[in-house]
Amino acid sequence: QATSKEVTKLRDNLERVREEAMTDALTGIANRKRFDESLRKARRESDTQGTPLSLVLCDIDFFKRFNDTWGHQTGDQIIRFVAGCLTRHAPESHVVARYGGEEFGIVMPGATPQEAYAIAEKIRSTVESKKLLRKSTNEDLGNITISMGIASFEAGESIETLIERADTHLYRSKTEGRNRTTTDGAENQLGRSAA
Ligand code: GH3
Ligand code: MG
Ligand code: MG
Repeated sequence: QATSKEVTKLRDNLERVREEAMTDALTGIANRKRFDESLRKARRESDTQGTPLSLVLCDIDFFKRFNDTWGHQTGDQIIRFVAGCLTRHAPESHVVARYGGEEFGIVMPGATPQEAYAIAEKIRSTVESKKLLRKSTNEDLGNITISMGIASFEAGESIETLIERADTHLYRSKTEGRNRTTTDGAENQLGRSAA
């Protein structure tokens, strides 16, 4: 009996370590590893079942400037703030991940391009609308904005190609003025200056 208890405990520990290995320490959301796994799984399902799958990539605008002006700690606060906005607006079945430093990804199984676009725009406008105060001093940080790129899975394409397309759209959002969302249909772009 003692042995079986120990096995249970070991199993629990293992599960906790596994969970930790998939979680981003700064924000508590999924990390790159979980992002990759979720995307691989979602792609497989989408490919075999013919269901839609959308991918959103998101990058904080002029983040380096915030870091340089306010310091790394405040930069971290901003990253956590954006992670929170993404998590609150994405449905439970979507995987919100910190993709890199100040870059995020949302894997959206079952989401059509239109649905993905609606969610991304909701997130973008929420982030833009919030007034952020520096935690340590209560100073006004001004408005934080994010740029988004969306790509929806096309039958047979690789994960690399899907990410690359989303990244190209994200880049387009940046070059066309930031604080906007670009999707597969390039005409499908909306942002502060376009509105
Ligand atoms: P753009 O609008 O084109 O995206 O400009 P940007 O300044 O956001 O882009 P850039 O990629 O030049 O800057 C990203 C910066 O993010 C550089 C790096 O110092 C910072 N960074 C990366 N990871 C972290 C982190 O975990 N915490 C903090 N505070 N800063 C980070
Ligand atoms: Mg970046
Ligand atoms: Mg950036």
